[in-house]
Amino acid sequence: MEVITRFPPSPTGYLHIGGARTALFSWLYARKHGGRFVLRIEDTDRERSSQESVQAILDGMGWLGLDYDDGPYFQTQRMNRYREVIDQLLHAGQAYHCYCTREELDVLREAQRARGDKPRYDGRCRQRTQPRDEILPVVRFKNPRDGNVVIDDLVKGRIIISNSELDDLIIARSDGTPTYNLTVVVDDMDMGITHVIRGDDHINNTPRQINILEALCAERPRYAHVPMILGADGKRLSKRHGAVGVMQYRDDGYLPQAVLNYLVRLGWSHGDQEIFTRQEMFDLFDISDVQRGSAVFNPEKLLWLNYEYIKAAKAADLRDHARWHFENAGINIDEQANWKEVILVNQQRSKTLLELVDRSLFFFRDIDGYDAKSVKKHFKGQAGEVLVELRAQLGPLDPWTAENIHRRLHQLAERRSIGLGKIAQPLRIAVAGVAVSPPIDETLAILGKEAVMGRIDAAVNYINTLP
Ligand code: GLU
Repeated sequence: MEVITRFPPSPTGYLHIGGARTALFSWLYARKHGGRFVLRIEDTDRERSSQESVQAILDGMGWLGLDYDDGPYFQTQRMNRYREVIDQLLHAGQAYHCYCTREELDVLREAQRARGDKPRYDGRCRQRTQPRDEILPVVRFKNPRDGNVVIDDLVKGRIIISNSELDDLIIARSDGTPTYNLTVVVDDMDMGITHVIRGDDHINNTPRQINILEALCAERPRYAHVPMILGADGKRLSKRHGAVGVMQYRDDGYLPQAVLNYLVRLGWSHGDQEIFTRQEMFDLFDISDVQRGSAVFNPEKLLWLNYEYIKAAKAADLRDHARWHFENAGINIDEQANWKEVILVNQQRSKTLLELVDRSLFFFRDIDGYDAKSVKKHFKGQAGEVLVELRAQLGPLDPWTAENIHRRLHQLAERRSIGLGKIAQPLRIAVAGVAVSPPIDETLAILGKEAVMGRIDAAVNYINTLP
């Protein structure tokens, strides 16, 4: 049997962490089994759905590398098909028109509550043969009255729901539009979905969907309901917990592999392994190993993973992922002859691509001023003199290598009987604008002699203007 999974987001916002994890699990499960992964956009709620949101979902999936084999299908383009199935159910006597008014339903519900019963539709229109004037009916599914629905959920285990708990669900509204439970059933059936992997907030829908599938003589897929993701406060993850949109992580300088790796561990584990290559995910992931309890979202851990991925990445990959961030900072990374050295020297100390870019900028463009705090602390005393002397020492240096620069700096420190910091810090400010940089000898070597000489001159001039 070919495994076919699906991801059916409603396009009412961006792709959030929870949705992305569901998509990832479905995608992994299909990939692992050499099956197919279907993308379906559940856009029947026209008021809340938007084209921007569809795009945001596609962007998010594209960025994470969650490629799909079929789709995107749009439910709004399948309305005729839903209509057809609703008619089929009506003709077969498995669905019926319900003419109850809102007021009547309210009265029914009140009476049930007063008796201490769970409010539910009592099926009174099942027997109706005549329409009621001026009332546009809804269509209700005739849910079986007896028996149980038994679900062997791949995550939750066996779930048994008595049909007496379920009422006759509305499958078409009075304007004829189908409801969620109907469209999902028709799509899952038509698309041959074998495994429905989704959030456990849908678990109450599952027995209803199974009953409709059975009425249609369709094969029932396996179900896997994955637990919710919670914030550190134990509440369901939401905007209050900070960035929950996947693309926000791109904007904040995360690598997609790091986010993917973080997501796969939200509710799933393999021993105490934390880092998984894509191939390892395919090989090791199994939906039945997903834990039953909720997972807690931990932004520090995601940051840690990102750092691990940055440290281990190839320079060219970092360049490719950071290209857009460099562009935002006004730098075309492809035009920088020393891009590789700059990335290599900063890679081990950057937790995000934004940090990497930030630490790299002074290598690629002239600095536009000096950090006030650094100036106050280090552009004082002998700093000007030291820089002048250093310039004279470095001028004739050939070849311009980190080792040679290193030697000159030490010689100067010895000759002046000062600590290396008294040279390195003013020098850092001169070339980087701030008293922070990678090792100073490497920094100078990468910057190149010409840029270093020019920046030392500018710094000396600046120091001379200080009171
Ligand atoms: N559109 C539904 C949602 O976004 C899909 C649920 C399902 O997987 O059946 O929650």
